[in-house]
Amino acid sequence: MRTPEPAELVRVTALEPGLGRLLAAMPKAELHLHLDGSLRIETALELAGTRGVDAPSTPQGMFEALVAPMPCADQAELLRAFDLPIALMQDGDALERITMELVESKATEGVRYVEIRWGPLLHVQRGLALADGIEAVVRGAAAGASATGTVVRLIATALRSHDPADNVRLAETAARFRDRGLTGWDLAGPEAAYPDPLLHGRAFEAARAGGLRITVHAGEWGGAAQVRRALEVEPERIAHGAAAADDPALVAELRDRGICLDLCPTSNVQAGIVGSLAEHPLARLHRAGVAVTLSTDDTTVSDLSLTDEYARATAEIGLTLSELWAIDRRALDVAFADEATLAPLRKSFDAWAAAIPELRSAPGQAGAKPSST
Ligand SMILES: [Zn+2]
Repeated sequence: MRTPEPAELVRVTALEPGLGRLLAAMPKAELHLHLDGSLRIETALELAGTRGVDAPSTPQGMFEALVAPMPCADQAELLRAFDLPIALMQDGDALERITMELVESKATEGVRYVEIRWGPLLHVQRGLALADGIEAVVRGAAAGASATGTVVRLIATALRSHDPADNVRLAETAARFRDRGLTGWDLAGPEAAYPDPLLHGRAFEAARAGGLRITVHAGEWGGAAQVRRALEVEPERIAHGAAAADDPALVAELRDRGICLDLCPTSNVQAGIVGSLAEHPLARLHRAGVAVTLSTDDTTVSDLSLTDEYARATAEIGLTLSELWAIDRRALDVAFADEATLAPLRKSFDAWAAAIPELRSAPGQAGAKPSST
């Protein structure tokens, strides 16, 4: 078994201090982040006690329960790390609190725009009504946004393993919250057991009809063929999809159609999809002209901040600072928010970069829409 973490940590902490400070200060946008994978340890301890959920009772024990092994054997092992958080998130108060805390945590990492996704149908096991659960997350997001200034949008995630009719109902219910910041639709879950996204084609249609914008998890199993298969649901963006790099024709198609890959390199290594960060195709895909963004996937399951991930992208994957900035900035061009929301964010990101000598001549705006109005 490989032991990637110590070497990675040594190299990341060997970042020159100036670069570390710059990455911490950089305004960030994160598009691929799961609520149930990002629960604070202390909150999990408290919820386990008050909800009577069988779980470790010490911070160290809870940390070990919530952080998945690095690496896992496969996606299925990684998914098991979500069982405990989901058990703790079965009432409105818990969902609202966890959402608000996640926005607050992200704000401290310099994240100014975040899209948080979760599977509302996973949170009705103790009788919570589907719409009430969604309402709680919407409320938590709004509270976090107003406390921090970070702009939040939400993505409802359907599970591949769920009944297609239930996912249609989820899409119809989620779309009712579109004007309150729930703007996206996603499909995720066990890809090997349920490889065909069109099994849920009617749910995608219902989401689209309700005005939700479409993304889909793909390529966590099954390689480039699964990423190609995801195109059948006509997504604007794909969550993961790193394996597309193995198929030059697919790379060209993603580039030409402007379909963005929301990549999470550390999570991919943890899930056993990519052998090491150094092998991750993030930089290759970006340099081939594919739109990519960079996210953590799961703050707690991967024990990872977005600043950590940006540091690893430079130290391990080999992105230059200007490439990293271009990727960060691109998220504001593919985000599931309207222009009135995104234009001021682009302006403030650009103003920050204009004050950084290393970024002034960077091709950071490549592919960006004009934002000088
Ligand atoms: Zn994901």
